[in-house]
Amino acid sequence: MEELYDIQSTRLVSPQETANDSDAEFSLRPKTLSEYIGQERAKQNLRIYLEAAKLRNEPLDHLLLYGPPGLGKTTMACIVAAEMGVQIRITSGPAIEKPGDLAALLTNLQEGDVLFIDEIHRLSRQVEEVLYPAMEDYALDIMIGKGPAAQSIRINLPRFTLVGATTRAGQLTNPLRDRFGVLLKLELYSPEELAKIVQRSSDILGMPCLPEGAQEIARCSRGTPRIANRLLKRVRDFATVLGKEAIDEECAKLALSRMDIDKLGLDELDRSLLRALIEMYGGGPVGLDTLAAALGEESVTLEDVCEPYLMQMGFLIRTPRGRCATPAAFEHLGFTPPRIKEDNGQQSLFEATEL
Ligand code: ADP
Repeated sequence: MEELYDIQSTRLVSPQETANDSDAEFSLRPKTLSEYIGQERAKQNLRIYLEAAKLRNEPLDHLLLYGPPGLGKTTMACIVAAEMGVQIRITSGPAIEKPGDLAALLTNLQEGDVLFIDEIHRLSRQVEEVLYPAMEDYALDIMIGKGPAAQSIRINLPRFTLVGATTRAGQLTNPLRDRFGVLLKLELYSPEELAKIVQRSSDILGMPCLPEGAQEIARCSRGTPRIANRLLKRVRDFATVLGKEAIDEECAKLALSRMDIDKLGLDELDRSLLRALIEMYGGGPVGLDTLAAALGEESVTLEDVCEPYLMQMGFLIRTPRGRCATPAAFEHLGFTPPRIKEDNGQQSLFEATEL
């Protein structure tokens, strides 16, 4: 798993957080709900829940945020804490190894505090068991002793809000999901929203960005603010070295092309995946493992990192027989799309020999 993240972190358009992101990420993070750009539906509802909790002088109900990495789940959890005027503790599913680790975290919370657990789908079963009574009754059940003499004692906890974040809501167990009072889904951002995020971040970073420059960066950011901010920082490097006072369209285009990112945000790995599909397998269908072996990559990297965006862009489809490149992918890479072959419901989508 560690290795996978290493591979991803070398890509500029990886949505995963890399060591390089974390320092500036703190200062770029919006601090209030009004600064948080986009996600209007989630924000509207959250505003009401926050208002109601404040009026009743109660902590906010437990909140589950789900959506792809880099969309602003941690940011939203921090905003919840700031709006409620409480402290936030940030941890993640894999970091809580034993039930005792969670017990220590919970007993250290103050009344009303927010506990943020990232990647909550990776909590172990035993740890989850401890979380249930904590979420439901604000209590910890601890077993003392073994065998017939074992006794269970209950420790009361301060009332707190658990904010869970996951990229895979489907992997959460039902009992855990049912204990969240509020579920908010974060969606990929539109290019207009990303352009606003780029403008805001560039002001904070002290390098103004002209609207056309921001739009250029936004278009290449795969709907993800974390990628937009990362690309902005690299484009800013180019602007600085070129002696520009602001990031303009020309500078953004030059920097992005030098980083091998094309106008739709595809990088070299995305393009080689599509190229392999088209040149070696006539557009598919081809199994994921075969494709991964041809590219010398891990299947899981292709599946988690490249495919979601390629599918969203309409360049790739998954069929029961394997992956297929769409006519749009052929065109984007400068190939002539094959004619679609009708073969009585059989799934050979394209036949390259008919070009
Ligand atoms: P996640 O927890 O979903 O992986 P983060 O909350 O860490 O994502 O967000 C990644 C970065 O993207 C943050 O540093 C923040 O600067 C930026 N960001 C996310 N959402 C927004 C937003 N709505 N407006 C402005 N910046 C955002």
